[in-house]
Amino acid sequence: MIGTIAGSAELFSHASNMRQEVQLRIAQQMAIVNGAAAEAAFQLNPVLAHQIAHGLFSDEVVAWVIIRDDFGRPLAEFNTAEQVNSTWLSQYLFSDMLHHQAALEYFIGSDMPEAIVGEIELFLAEDYLAQQFLARIYSVVGVSVLEAFILSLLVIAFFHVFITRPLLKVHEAITHTDPTRPGQWPKPSLRGHRHDELGHLVDSLDHLLKAFQQGLEQRDQLHHLSTMDGLTGVANRRHFDEFYQRHWELAQQTQQPLSVIFIDIDNFKEFNDHYGHAMGDDALRAVSNALNQCLDPTRDLLARYGGEEFVCVLLGKHHDNAVQVANCLREAVLSLAIPHAYSSTHANLTVSMGVSSMSPGLPVSADALIQHADQHLYHAKRLGRNRVETCKRPA
Ligand code: GH3
Ligand code: MG
Ligand code: MG
Repeated sequence: MIGTIAGSAELFSHASNMRQEVQLRIAQQMAIVNGAAAEAAFQLNPVLAHQIAHGLFSDEVVAWVIIRDDFGRPLAEFNTAEQVNSTWLSQYLFSDMLHHQAALEYFIGSDMPEAIVGEIELFLAEDYLAQQFLARIYSVVGVSVLEAFILSLLVIAFFHVFITRPLLKVHEAITHTDPTRPGQWPKPSLRGHRHDELGHLVDSLDHLLKAFQQGLEQRDQLHHLSTMDGLTGVANRRHFDEFYQRHWELAQQTQQPLSVIFIDIDNFKEFNDHYGHAMGDDALRAVSNALNQCLDPTRDLLARYGGEEFVCVLLGKHHDNAVQVANCLREAVLSLAIPHAYSSTHANLTVSMGVSSMSPGLPVSADALIQHADQHLYHAKRLGRNRVETCKRPA
């Protein structure tokens, strides 16, 4: 709509300019030839009149020209033979300015007023004017289209350099961001955009991702704390339950062996009663450290089952291997050489253990395996403590 109005206004302005130019040019030409034409009319000189009329007629815009003497008799006349192709456009634009007529005034003497000695009359070529107007409009439209095209290219280039390309950079940085470490995203450096909307957007995104990363770290810390025993630093009972259940099912699917060792500190009540609770806590920490030394941290899990009881889950280990590990655990605690003068069985702090294993293909449930290990531990206690008990054959 706006384009149509602007285009119409421009066409109107060009038509108006063209009309003014043609009228001015014809008026100037008539003024220039007026003196000579008056001379020809006064002298009744058809040759001179012919030359003047021809001069005017040689301008393509003139379709018909005539010079007359003061009796109205033609001295010279030129007329195009062509038929005028009048259109609604040419009529609308030029029909009112085609006819021009001027009296020829001749200065006879200093004491005489100027006398009218003839007239000059001409008609402009309406179709030629229309052609000129259309040619002008075509060139204007062509230049406008070219200008619009160049402007569009400039606008596209500007948008590409200053908006699209930086946005693509941000997009690429986001797609290359590790979702587990959003705070370490490859923040794009947008030169020239530090203080504009795009720069602010990247800064806000950076703050957001860093805050998000902090949240993830806090979540991981809380998760770690929720799986850890506060006193000894080994896994807690909750983590053991989840780990055991998950790996039991995995071992069933992959047909891998799995062993469990129940560990209980011997005569720990007496230890606490005589050495105090603080020393008891120190002993629990020392024992858990010693137990960890015999385990493969990438495969095995040591957890505090409760009180002074620990449990080990050994992944991929058969019964014999599990018994070896259990003996290693027992010796590791013994080698701590924590004095226990009030023990009924040994001078130092010792542990008793029950081992049970699951071999692929042998029917035993997860709970039953735990119960077996607990029963073997009970036997170890009854048989004198500081020992490893298991069944003769694996469950
Ligand atoms: P047994 O050889 O038959 O296992 O005898 P025990 O004395 O070790 O067994 P009992 O179950 O009678 O006593 C366990 C003791 O462990 C009771 C308690 O004082 C102590 N205990 C449990 N948890 C903690 C703890 O977190 N810190 C300390 N210092 N002692 C604990
Ligand atoms: Mg106990
Ligand atoms: Mg005990």
